[in-house]
Amino acid sequence: MDALKKNHLTVFVLWLLIVPAGMTYVLINYPPVNPDWLTMIAFLGLALVTVYFPLNLNGSYLSLEQWVGVAVFLKYGLSAELLISQLIILPLLFRSRNSSSTPLINRYFFNSLMFFILSIASGYVFIILGGQFGSLDLYNLLFFGFIYQLTSTIFNQVILNFYLRSLGHKVSMLSVETVWDYLAVVFIFPFSITLYLLEAYVGVISLLIMGVPFVVVAYLLQKYNNTERINANLRTASKIGHQLADRLTSEEVFRLFLTRVVEMLNNDYAYILDIRKDSNKLVLIRSYEKGELLTLDVPPLAMGEGIGGLVWKENKPVIFKRKEEWEGIVSGYIPENVQSIIAAPISRNQEIEGVLLIASEKRFAFEEYQLKIIDLLCSYFAVSLEKAKYVQDAISKSERCGLTKLYNYRYLDDKIEQEMSRLMDGQLRQLSLIMMDIDRFKMVNDTYGHQSGNDILVGLARLLEQEVGNLGTLARYGGEEFVVLLPDYSKGEALKLAETIRQIVENHPFRIQSDLSNERETQDVQITLSIGVSTAPEDSDEAMALIRNADRALYIGAKREGRNRVAEYVK
Ligand code: GH3
Ligand code: MG
Ligand code: MG
Repeated sequence: MDALKKNHLTVFVLWLLIVPAGMTYVLINYPPVNPDWLTMIAFLGLALVTVYFPLNLNGSYLSLEQWVGVAVFLKYGLSAELLISQLIILPLLFRSRNSSSTPLINRYFFNSLMFFILSIASGYVFIILGGQFGSLDLYNLLFFGFIYQLTSTIFNQVILNFYLRSLGHKVSMLSVETVWDYLAVVFIFPFSITLYLLEAYVGVISLLIMGVPFVVVAYLLQKYNNTERINANLRTASKIGHQLADRLTSEEVFRLFLTRVVEMLNNDYAYILDIRKDSNKLVLIRSYEKGELLTLDVPPLAMGEGIGGLVWKENKPVIFKRKEEWEGIVSGYIPENVQSIIAAPISRNQEIEGVLLIASEKRFAFEEYQLKIIDLLCSYFAVSLEKAKYVQDAISKSERCGLTKLYNYRYLDDKIEQEMSRLMDGQLRQLSLIMMDIDRFKMVNDTYGHQSGNDILVGLARLLEQEVGNLGTLARYGGEEFVVLLPDYSKGEALKLAETIRQIVENHPFRIQSDLSNERETQDVQITLSIGVSTAPEDSDEAMALIRNADRALYIGAKREGRNRVAEYVK
């Protein structure tokens, strides 16, 4: 049995042992003082109303039921307060249904037990110290009443801390919530005394006189708080929008979007599904679970299938508040503890491109207004992603050769500068460069046509890619000239690689379709390379000299000596 289940069971056994018997004992031994059922029911009614209008402070609820509880205690004594506090547990739990993933039944027993202990403990402190019920003596009311409420709050903190610690949570004695709880004592207490006195002097009507303004204020605060939360969400959304616009690679856009959206909604899971036009399927492409970006291998969805497929089909966002609402729809992957789900289409130019799905382990985790904000964020996301693609495209176009797709001389020049400064900083010990030039390539063009020449250049590019791999940077430096830049390669190692390349090219037939002959028959063409090698800092420690020296070695050492050979730079 895991720790949590054990805990639930302990609480239940304790409840069974203590609460029913204790309740009976208190009801028999401390019956309500001067019971007056109509007023008692009115008090209960007021307590229930306060449960439904809690003060919402920055998203955490401040319970004010104590307001009524203290007045009831002072008037009728222990048993009446005990009854009321037990009766409001269910509505209290229902109100906070979205703030916990613990089953309602477990929370009921825990709360009932806790409230019982609180009622009894603070009640006895009041009685032992000599507090009087039904008294109109102001000193008695203020002094003992305050002690009663304070004890109850302190016990509340102690029991809660004890319970949370037993579950392995870290709790600080002075959290924001704790401070609010104590402040609430100071805030509620005068109201309790006023309610008590007014009721004593003018009767049950006082509950209305004080209840109505109280509820109105609580209601207005609630409304105000909602607007504040929407505003806060909107502010965050616009910030995310700006940050997204600054990201230049798709990977950064994905990462930022997922992490920030999850953070904003305070959730556990987020997924991006992409509509694949070719297969007409919805594919999961990014997953973010509990703070981690993951790659999940999940079967794709068809249109209308699962929650993602539903959003795709309807092209409309959906919101589910608990598992029961979506259980029948989901066909694919979803983490086990998920309760609430919100999903929205990701569209660009009015066309749906994918689906965003966010999930939470809490029930009722999302509100309708958040759908609109998600929708807004999805369009920021789609636009930023497209922009990042354009930027990446433009960058790779500007640094690649259009024909062979190898890096061009512009990229290579920058790369040589970079590697040279690494050499100067001592991060590299040496740097070699291989320069290759196809022998008598003009003749190839003249014999088989320019198009065939191009095909050979492309074929050679692929062959060189295979040979060079990740050893260094391969670039097409000019017309039929190719370069390999090799960090941490000695001249000897570079010469060896050059010789390997030379032999492989010499023995490789390049298949072309001659565009000069009428039949366009396929033909195999042989080419050879002349190669020059230079190394820094051995030959020179200047970036441009590295190329110049390799070029010289190529012409003097290889071409002039009869071509199809490798030569090193000699000073
Ligand atoms: P060698 O290097 O052995 O001295 O002779 P070569 O014929 O290769 O030398 P040269 O530098 O005189 O000529 C290079 C030729 O490469 C000129 C041009 O026809 C060809 N060439 C350069 N760029 C391209 C290209 O992009 N496509 C095609 N098909 N040919 C090109
Ligand atoms: Mg040339
Ligand atoms: Mg040439």
